Amino acid sequence: MKPLSAKIAGVTESATIAISNKAKAMQRHGIDVISLSIGEPDFATPQHITDACIDALKRGETHYAPSNGIPELTGAIADKITKENKFLCTPQQVIVACGAKDAIYETCEAVLNPGDETVILTPAWVSYEPCILIAGGKPVFHAINEKTFQLDDSLLEKVNKKTKMIIVNSPSNPTGAVFDRTSLQLVADICTDNDIYAMSDEIYEKMIYGREHLSLAAIGDMHQRTITINGFSKAYAMTGWRLGYAVGPKEIIAEMSKVQQHSVSQATTFAMWGGVAALKGDQSCVEQMRQEFDKRRKYVIGELKAMGYDTAPAEGAFYAFVKVNGDDMEVASRWLDKGHVAATPGSAFYAPGWIRLSYAASMEKLKEAMDRIRKIGD
Ligand code: PMP
Ligand code: GLU
Repeated sequence: MKPLSAKIAGVTESATIAISNKAKAMQRHGIDVISLSIGEPDFATPQHITDACIDALKRGETHYAPSNGIPELTGAIADKITKENKFLCTPQQVIVACGAKDAIYETCEAVLNPGDETVILTPAWVSYEPCILIAGGKPVFHAINEKTFQLDDSLLEKVNKKTKMIIVNSPSNPTGAVFDRTSLQLVADICTDNDIYAMSDEIYEKMIYGREHLSLAAIGDMHQRTITINGFSKAYAMTGWRLGYAVGPKEIIAEMSKVQQHSVSQATTFAMWGGVAALKGDQSCVEQMRQEFDKRRKYVIGELKAMGYDTAPAEGAFYAFVKVNGDDMEVASRWLDKGHVAATPGSAFYAPGWIRLSYAASMEKLKEAMDRIRKIGD
């Protein structure tokens, strides 16, 4: 048989999904595994959002819709971005996709030519590199300062004529760090001076504790060269709905639209009606979840520090990023096999020596997980 695609062979499977699958398989075998491996809110999708989707189904919203999204949703997203993220956005600058991940993939396909370099700031989430590779681009890694978790001039060393895009993710998965204005201004200056695009993944914007979320596109003229990624999975506990979006310059959205039309066509029609209810409805559900995450965050970080671990800032998202003494792959395997606590090794995020724990689990589970980790150690 002829060999399959070398491009895909060069991509690794998603570590976050692989470990969560392993934990689920252990649970199916009757093992009491506490899974802190995947970033998924444990809350139910708020009722008014589910109701809006059910109403849409009953109304017969079960057919193809405009590929970039129903106007009610693209309009609601444009309003939200203009008001909350503080840069002007029209519905023509919006594309609704099958999750933020799909929007990230479409961005890479639309922007990159073979060999175009894209800077990934590490530690980084697992799917940026594969999306770049699938699009034929070349990932270039820049390790951010492990003490400040902010950016400095050393970022410039990774920029050259081939640099096409820089990816920013604040609040960050996996570190929980939030970039301050100085870091974002640095990215903006580098992008503007060197004619580089930016992809700003802001999916954790609502999960932020004592800090203010800043959108890269709101800085100077960055809206002209930034594709902002967001979605419903995290803020509204809608992971399984597969609903996300990108906003950016019309010309880029038009190219992404072609990728979408020839692949998934559009996001699911009735799911989009849930998205409309999410954005237009009462936002207190988001704040309630944020407060609950904040309680868990304080508990988990407090316990880990009491055990003597160093942790990344934990100012956003719902991850504790923990520095361990041993090899992170080995420690994570031991926590899973002996302690039945599933966590993701930092190596999956280009940060060996660290482990990511998601605190999007109940307090009861978190307490039990902390007890188990305390007993096993690293
Ligand atoms: N970006 C980041 C940083 C994430 O952690 C996730 C979580 N899966 C996504 C994008 C994709 O989210 P989704 O596709 O569920 O909208
Ligand atoms: N983003 C979440 C995580 O990092 C969900 C899994 C995934 O899509 O990678 O765990």
